[in-house]
Amino acid sequence: MRIDLHTHSTASDGTDTPAELVRNAAAAGLDVVALTDHDSTRGHAEAIAALPELDRPLTLVTGAELSCRLDGVGLHLLAYLFDADEPDFLAARELVRDDRVPRARTMVARLQERGVPITWEQVTRIAGDASLGRPHIATALVELGVVETVSDAFTPEWLADGGRAYAEKYELDPFEAIRLVKAAGGVTVFAHPAAVKRGRVVPEAAIGRLAAAGLDGIEVDHMDHDAPTRARLRSIAAELGVLTTGSSDYHGSRKFVELGACTTDPEVYGEITRRAFGAFPVPGAGGAA
Ligand code: AMP
Ligand code: FE
Ligand code: FE
Ligand code: ZN
Repeated sequence: MRIDLHTHSTASDGTDTPAELVRNAAAAGLDVVALTDHDSTRGHAEAIAALPELDRPLTLVTGAELSCRLDGVGLHLLAYLFDADEPDFLAARELVRDDRVPRARTMVARLQERGVPITWEQVTRIAGDASLGRPHIATALVELGVVETVSDAFTPEWLADGGRAYAEKYELDPFEAIRLVKAAGGVTVFAHPAAVKRGRVVPEAAIGRLAAAGLDGIEVDHMDHDAPTRARLRSIAAELGVLTTGSSDYHGSRKFVELGACTTDPEVYGEITRRAFGAFPVPGAGGAA
């Protein structure tokens, strides 16, 4: 069984539509894929609708990647199999997602002040109705020839945390987020906890605090973790008694990583599905996984 528990679609900053994402996941030989757009569940319905058309069985795990902040440092929390209609958690996701719009406007204005001919219309054309993020603005900068790749826009000069055109968005307290996800029947996994090349990360001691608050697992096998980091995270997880997962964090053509680049152990996946009660994995054509 090949299980990839972290991917993005056009509902946030991925480039595959949700239907394309599940088709590509099946074509890549995955048995289970989780759709985890930033602060949004808007892609779920389209992904589910595309499942019966697949020529291989693929099970969809519904989820989201929540933008959180702890002691001034950003962190991402993966949430799986929660009830997307549960009102308190829904309201929290909407607060974060909606605040991305004025925040992106601020970043566009800062770029304009620096003489970059970016426009709001350009950014909204690129993003469509997605949960708006820096990668959309970065794509505009690539179109304008300001930088060569999306990644090149994540520097102090441009959009990196604290960079010259960076603006903060509203982010959730992770302890509150864990509580909300659990109350909605979901399971939580700390995404890429030691991805230092993306910016500051919370100290590893924070993982223990989050575990004490009910965090279910940490994402260990991720392209932004080198081998020693993975080994250290695995021993932290064992000490704390939390699950360890692996995933691609696929973003389509906005990032150079393939679906299934890292995967999750079937036993861990089984445990996630046993703990969750807000939603069930959705089996596609050909049976369940
Ligand atoms: P935002 O949620 O708008 O603050 O944007 C953060 C997103 O930008 C992350 O979830 C990644 O998808 C992407 N990102 C962060 N750092 C980089 C990087 N160095 N290169 C490419 N994409 C990045
Ligand atoms: Fe992203
Ligand atoms: Fe992330
Ligand atoms: Zn992600």
